[in-house]
Amino acid sequence: MDENVKVFMEKVMEKNPGEKEFHQAVQEFTESVMPFIEKNPKYKKAKILERMVEPERAIIFRVPWVDDKGDVQVNRGYRIEFNSAIGPYKGGLRFHPSVNLSILKFLGFEQIFKNSLTSLPMGGGKGGSDFNARGKSEMEIMRFCQSFMMELFRHVGPNTDVPAGDIGVGGREIGYLFGMYKKLRNEFTGVLTGKGVNWGGSLIRPEATGYGAVYFASEMLKLKSDSFKGKIVTVSGFGNVAWGCALKINELGGKVVTLSGPDGYIYDIDGIKGEKIEYMLEMRASNNDRVEDFAKKFNAPFYAGKKPWEVKCDIAMPCATQNELDLNDAKILAKNGCILVVEVSNMGCTYDAAKFATEKMMYAPGKAVNAGGVAVSGLEMSQNSMRMNWTAEEVDKHLHQIMKNIHEACVKYGRVSKDKVDYIKGANIAGFVKVADAMLDQGIV
Ligand code: GLU
Repeated sequence: MDENVKVFMEKVMEKNPGEKEFHQAVQEFTESVMPFIEKNPKYKKAKILERMVEPERAIIFRVPWVDDKGDVQVNRGYRIEFNSAIGPYKGGLRFHPSVNLSILKFLGFEQIFKNSLTSLPMGGGKGGSDFNARGKSEMEIMRFCQSFMMELFRHVGPNTDVPAGDIGVGGREIGYLFGMYKKLRNEFTGVLTGKGVNWGGSLIRPEATGYGAVYFASEMLKLKSDSFKGKIVTVSGFGNVAWGCALKINELGGKVVTLSGPDGYIYDIDGIKGEKIEYMLEMRASNNDRVEDFAKKFNAPFYAGKKPWEVKCDIAMPCATQNELDLNDAKILAKNGCILVVEVSNMGCTYDAAKFATEKMMYAPGKAVNAGGVAVSGLEMSQNSMRMNWTAEEVDKHLHQIMKNIHEACVKYGRVSKDKVDYIKGANIAGFVKVADAMLDQGIV
């Protein structure tokens, strides 16, 4: 490791003890941008990196609610308002029992650069709760969302901080959160994105993360004069992101053969298409958090407790959660002839897996690949400000162009040789420059 990176990381670790996911995200980022900062002393002098790793504000709050039995439950809520140099804080809410300060700080940190890459005016933020939706009733989910918003409403607003969905937060939860915000503020504004299309949501927002990821991967393949046509794709997860990927991959002539959940993975040799894709939405809405149901319904083999990376494929797309693909998985993928690892989940690969995949296959990081989701959130904000709705074609056209531009920016800053691009470096530097320059312009604040 470079000496400057080492010294910097020691300070980050000392100041943020125990936050291992946050350390991982900062280290990956710092290794890319440190050489760039050394060459551009204006950033060094203004201590831009030191300022960037410190959230502007981190809010932690109590979320009490009453379950169906009448018992009182208490969860912890968070909102990390990380950086507002280029726009209001923007980023999702994650409801999952694994949620803690470290995870939300890593997600908020990555969100800064992802949002910058979209070229839309959005700062970086993230929030959520350790709430576990598994086995909860519809009414329990509603009461939890209402209690969460009873505190969050003080801190957010259409020009301040605009949350959206993430793991465990989809259209249903956004609806309950929005309803409570509107009641408390007596205002109908675009304070959240991912809303229902009848009440301010944007067409294509549910599909956007998956579609965007496939558009980005198509650009990577195009560099090698290749495409999705005829490709076997392994996908992890079964939620909204995996769903959008599956739809677009089918449209482009590829075949998705796996889905996974915390319980294991299913292998469907015929390909996941048609009603099988629609069934993914039902699994999500059931609050069971498992894919074995798919195996039973469609008679596909189910591998309990295993990850889908052992299946032979051309393209691997982790769509579930952080660190779900490690070095060993990456080695198996390479050995089986995989040519491309497209990280769709945030920090879905461990750092050594990402580096290995960059070297031996092709790899692109989540903050570039999955930026289509937040990009269409940005377009939802624009439509709300104009009090207008665009057609699906219009939104999709913007999304496609944005993903092409992000790919181009990654190539600009990440090209290593004629036929090799380091997408980690490209995405980090391209995302950094815009935010860093805005911070310089705005002084020491
Ligand atoms: N949670 C998504 C992400 O990781 C979407 C955020 C948003 O739309 O604000 O980027």
